[in-house]
Amino acid sequence: MAANQQAFPALTLACLLSALMLQTCRTFAEDLTWDENGYVLYCPCMGRFGNQADHFLGSLAFAKMLNRTLAVPPWIVYRHHTPPYTNVHVPYSEFFQLEALSAYHRVVSLKAFMEELAPKYWPSGQRNAYCFETAAQRSADKKSCPMKDGNPFGPFWDHVGVDFDKSVLFGGISFSPYHQPQWMKKFPPSEHPVLAMPGAPAQFPVIEEHVGLQRYMVWSESMVKEGEEHIAALLPRPYVGIHLRIGIDWQNACKMLKSGDAGPHFMASPQCVGYNRQTALPLTTTMCLPDLSEIRRAVKLWVKKTSARSVYIATDSESHSRDIDKLFKGKVKVVSLQPDSAQIDLYILGQANHFIGNCVSSFSAFVKRERDVHGRSSSFFGMDKPGKVNERVEL
Ligand code: GDP
Ligand code: MN
Repeated sequence: MAANQQAFPALTLACLLSALMLQTCRTFAEDLTWDENGYVLYCPCMGRFGNQADHFLGSLAFAKMLNRTLAVPPWIVYRHHTPPYTNVHVPYSEFFQLEALSAYHRVVSLKAFMEELAPKYWPSGQRNAYCFETAAQRSADKKSCPMKDGNPFGPFWDHVGVDFDKSVLFGGISFSPYHQPQWMKKFPPSEHPVLAMPGAPAQFPVIEEHVGLQRYMVWSESMVKEGEEHIAALLPRPYVGIHLRIGIDWQNACKMLKSGDAGPHFMASPQCVGYNRQTALPLTTTMCLPDLSEIRRAVKLWVKKTSARSVYIATDSESHSRDIDKLFKGKVKVVSLQPDSAQIDLYILGQANHFIGNCVSSFSAFVKRERDVHGRSSSFFGMDKPGKVNERVEL
């Protein structure tokens, strides 16, 4: 019990209970100790949730590759349409269990890092920013990392409470394992304890090798509770979950395919056309932006295949629920919540008996990866079998 008596008062009841039973909260409830192997800090400054999640997986792998603790940043949620229009910084642990990550690698929340470690080990005056020379080219003196320039950069580091004192530039190096020795040599933790970067030390989309890290992103108890309540109340099983990414920003993005400017690799598309550029299957306009007839075709197909009793529609804009409802003449329940929190949609899609996603969307990709981890079936609009071109069948 000694360890528990020293625990922070902030320890939640749930955590305390599981600590008593499983001792899982120990490392998180005790005082943090400084990791001599150093830390990786970054701003999830590119894109919305799906992009941030892709970048998170790569950053987690990068921290492990350098044997540094990852300071897990909050999610940046944009409120372009709701006052006060400022970004919200949502703790990682609000959506996912921070502890579950430690099965893969050492992590600390960026908040705990700042509150408990930074004052002593990374005090102001000693806060270096690390970035590519090319990124620094954008600054006025061409030698400074653009850590706080513009949105979301400035608001993020202000939220964290960090000003940077100095910039350290690098070039000719990437985040891949190939350059691991160079990273270690260039930035030994003794001289460079905290690698703080303006963006994620990772590629977008997530590389094939890191897709499986999704298994360490485990929904928080409160998300599970809320999600399961919706499912129990609204969705008789089996149910098919669909993601409609069809809003105006997406219509514009998909126009690039029509003009032939993009090859088969376009945003999250490797998840269905394959990661290898040489062998990638064609990416069609329908896969990027399914029209109503494709939406109906796919929903009908999978409802039939899975004998579904309900359909859940997650959407960035329109739900088309009336049109989908008409397909089944009242025999299948059609539901669209359009929740304030996108994560509720992600949770419900993840739990469906079958999921139909959008090839190009990283929001869909999050669901697909999670379902793969749990052996649940998924398809895409325009591609019924991921990795295989649809046959042209007359319906
Ligand atoms: P991508 O642009 O599709 O690759 O995915 P992102 O997550 O980067 O950006 C899309 C954003 O639009 C999401 O993060 C959500 O905020 C919103 N969005 C897109 N599709 C849905 C949806 O089905 N449900 C909800 N609630 N939000 C969505
Ligand atoms: Mn996006």
